[in-house]
Amino acid sequence: MKKNKIGIDVGGTNVKLALIDRNGNILYQNTVPTRAEMGYEYTVNNIKQSVYELLKETKSTIDTIDGIGFGFPGQVDYKSGVVRLAPNIPGWADIPIAKMIEDEFHVPVCADNDVRCAALGELNFGAGAGCENLICVTVGTGIGAGLIVNGRLVRGASNAAGEIGHVKLQMHEGPLCGCGDTGCMEAFASGPAIVAMAENYIRGGKSTKYREMANPEITPFVICEAAKADDPVAIRIFNVMGEYIGIGLASVVNLLNPEKIIIGGGVADAGDLLLKPLTETLKKRAMKIAGSAVEIVPAQLGNTAGVIGASLLIES
Ligand code: ADP
Repeated sequence: MKKNKIGIDVGGTNVKLALIDRNGNILYQNTVPTRAEMGYEYTVNNIKQSVYELLKETKSTIDTIDGIGFGFPGQVDYKSGVVRLAPNIPGWADIPIAKMIEDEFHVPVCADNDVRCAALGELNFGAGAGCENLICVTVGTGIGAGLIVNGRLVRGASNAAGEIGHVKLQMHEGPLCGCGDTGCMEAFASGPAIVAMAENYIRGGKSTKYREMANPEITPFVICEAAKADDPVAIRIFNVMGEYIGIGLASVVNLLNPEKIIIGGGVADAGDLLLKPLTETLKKRAMKIAGSAVEIVPAQLGNTAGVIGASLLIES
């Protein structure tokens, strides 16, 4: 009989845990600080304690749990359950998280990249329900994606598939990306790129509302608020960002011919300010047949996609 599962979404700042039933309902959830600066053992111990607390609070025993799934922001070897590299969680390199948690709880444990988990969540219980070919994109500090092709999650030859943020938009002398190369979509259009563009306009002497609204920093959120208050410079920034992402995704649409692209992540909370220019550009620039087949929609599960998707790594 199918039982409940635990999904755990590990981020640079917080770890989210949830008990999830077979219909994707969250029965209990909790958040604890990651505190990566204390070393990975500290975080792992915190996670173990939180699982015990989850069991206690929900009056469950471990034998009512099918398994525990983890999502990490980085490269994860799904087969061995080892976190290879998580750039935003210092100290997490070659950490055998699945074995460490299995040794404690004696249930199956799986781990994968967090955006892939989000894609599984949206595919099963969110905006991608019923789709066979789907791309789930997150736009935040970086740009990542989970790819579903013919109903299956694509991991690639070395678990590195889905790095849409590193589709190249410029051949020479583009902006420097965190990956070390230049000209990547992420270097043109992620959260930090939005802020960099906004600061450039200020340096260039443009009068803007977001300059007054900054508290004290300029963030994509502040620029979004300024755009909603009709600041033409802020609106222009989202138009340009939408165009960059739309052009990058046009190449991906030509390659994979998905029926849906789900856009999530913090910056996607800007809604139509980003989605409208993105969709218009994508439809204009993708090849006709693939471009007209694809629908661009906002994510549905919000910040619960990660825990729900992580739980789905465990087979029922
Ligand atoms: P991370 O990639 O670090 O996990 P998130 O996906 O949570 O980050 O995205 C965080 C970013 O989203 C921040 O830069 C924040 O300013 C931005 N953000 C939050 N809300 C909005 C909004 N309504 N419009 C645009 N950007 C937003």
